Amino acid sequence: MIVELHTPADARRWCAGRARLGFVPTMGALHEGHLELVRRAALENDAACVSVFVNPLQFGDAQDFERYRRDFAGDARLLDAVGCAMVFTGTLAGFFPGELCADGSLPPAALLDPGPCALGLEGDHRPGHFAGVATIVARLFDVVRPARAYFGAKDFQQTLVVKDLVRRSGGPEIVVCPTSREPSGLARSSRNERLGDVERGRATALICALRIAHDEWQKGMRKAASLRKCMYESLTRDEVEIDYAEVRDPDAWTSTEPAGALERAVALVAARVGGVRLIDNMRLDDEGRAS
Ligand code: AMP
Repeated sequence: MIVELHTPADARRWCAGRARLGFVPTMGALHEGHLELVRRAALENDAACVSVFVNPLQFGDAQDFERYRRDFAGDARLLDAVGCAMVFTGTLAGFFPGELCADGSLPPAALLDPGPCALGLEGDHRPGHFAGVATIVARLFDVVRPARAYFGAKDFQQTLVVKDLVRRSGGPEIVVCPTSREPSGLARSSRNERLGDVERGRATALICALRIAHDEWQKGMRKAASLRKCMYESLTRDEVEIDYAEVRDPDAWTSTEPAGALERAVALVAARVGGVRLIDNMRLDDEGRAS
């Protein structure tokens, strides 16, 4: 039976007695994509534990934060069924005891520098997002002290930020798991719940654009700008509101588009469908076939 804990202090005590923990940080509203991470964490470690915390530090949009579905009991049931040993949650005050301002916010000086991988794309469209991610992930690692932590390739830029954080400050081994998709190809996301039937169909525009970039790469297209144009044409045809559709070298992140022929590539897309912001990405070279 899963152990449910409601404060980071309780979680810290529970984790302290365990040898090799596999850890999956989440914001809850769990779906099959999250559960795949948890199954793997349980398989590869002595036990798996999960955090469920809708982190206000990483939301620029207050409405998006408020609307995020919260169902700790439901999430705990799903986690129990896949062999998770412990799930915990907490409040900002619980994660940062004695560190908050009078208005309940974290002082800007307490935010961690998310490093150079936070520049560009998501970093441009969601200012402050990655500082919020880096700050909570570092605190979660400090609470759990896992051997391994599991992240989804769906949030590609986030995986770079977290790997960089661990390189600079230490922490667990970071395991990146492939993006879990619905049969239509749509990347699973807690935000998909907000899509109506028609919008759900239109949301496949993201994976269509990525597949077009993948096909063009296979045919020999190596320039980021050319691949970008193909994705834009496809997304424009599908009438979704594009935030960005870009290509980067996954091993040498740049905030702007790399010039010249690429040896490795990841295509990344963010777009709004019916007011819901969705992101997705795909490795174009063989290296990333699994994601
Ligand atoms: P979130 O609850 O959205 O913060 O996600 C928690 C973790 O689950 C992150 O590492 C995400 O990248 C990962 N995740 C979310 N959706 C998927 C998906 N469709 N496939 C794989 N991993 C995912």
